[in-house]
Amino acid sequence: MYTVPKLDNYSPDALDRAVADLLSALDNEIAALHSEADWKTFRDRWLARKNGVLTQINDTWLKAAPGPAKRDVGQRVNDLRQRVTDRVEQQKRPDATIHVSGVQVGSFVGSMTMPALRASGTIVSIPRLDISLPGIQRPIGVKHPVLRVMDEIVAVFKAMGYSVGEGPEVETDYYNFESLNFPPNHPARDTQDTLFIAGQEGKPPRDRLLLRTHTSPVQIRTMEKHPPPLRIVIPGKVHRNDPLDATHSPLFHQVEGLAVDTNITFCDLKGTLDHAMKALFGSSVKTRFYPSFFPFTEPSADMQVSCIFCGGKGCRTCKFSGWIELLGCGMVDPNVFDFVKDNGYDSSKISGFAFGMGPDRIALLKYGVEGLQPFFEGDVRFLEQFA
Ligand SMILES: [Zn+2]
Repeated sequence: MYTVPKLDNYSPDALDRAVADLLSALDNEIAALHSEADWKTFRDRWLARKNGVLTQINDTWLKAAPGPAKRDVGQRVNDLRQRVTDRVEQQKRPDATIHVSGVQVGSFVGSMTMPALRASGTIVSIPRLDISLPGIQRPIGVKHPVLRVMDEIVAVFKAMGYSVGEGPEVETDYYNFESLNFPPNHPARDTQDTLFIAGQEGKPPRDRLLLRTHTSPVQIRTMEKHPPPLRIVIPGKVHRNDPLDATHSPLFHQVEGLAVDTNITFCDLKGTLDHAMKALFGSSVKTRFYPSFFPFTEPSADMQVSCIFCGGKGCRTCKFSGWIELLGCGMVDPNVFDFVKDNGYDSSKISGFAFGMGPDRIALLKYGVEGLQPFFEGDVRFLEQFA
């Protein structure tokens, strides 16, 4: 509760402080008002002719002021009288009062101040909303660098007529492995340290759930729904049982692509990827292909791009080879088409190619970040650099 202090210093600074103290005390008391009865007590305390706060100010500040300060103190006291009276009366203005009837109360008042509801009558006083108070500033986020790279890759393929495919991150063994030509006990499964969902032993092996180790299951899922021709690009999160270090993470991202039509050849694969790399890294980038192995493509290849940092001369990033390995690709293995033969994927009539790349690694190269950890730690100081 505010009590009017005696002033022993009448300098403008001291007066400013005294006025500010009084106004902030006034605001505190206003914030604590919950009912009409509260308001009446409050009004009397501040405005009563006999011993109200305003009267006390007149007596304690103005009358006691020394001659030279009287004029200044008088102006301030008058000004205060006006402001305090206005503020007190505002709390009683009709627009500060909500007439409450029946059901609407909950929804409307619920979003305002709950203490107001304690008033038992049909009129509830709500502390006035002060629209001059500064608002709450919410920082606006930006795209994570990895998402930004994924979006760029997707945009390049969209421009070539690819649509975007998505699928579940918790996947069955059938879609993640079997239908992609990884039979049970196939050694290629060992290269994908899989995180399995616990408590699945009662289910047939192909129905057991796991966290998908690649985005490739979406290929089969899409082919099951759409007959050929098909061109899709699949961005998404994947998981493997890899401890976090500079080049591995239990969670990472892939962007995968699939094109199926009549007469699709390895030439189409090379042309498509070469165009995509030039669109992503600039027209001077070259590509080259090396034989590789993936269970779901035959033949399979690894694709390298000429180093985007040294232009192929050799530097630390490309380990002085002039080339950077960027993705895996190949012609879809006819065994994979056999799983969706009923939907028109007859490998004697159609063919296709598939590719997959790691946007995390591309983001590392593109933004010159050392090691994957900062991408997944969520440290705002790191992420702010990309704002
Ligand atoms: Zn280089």
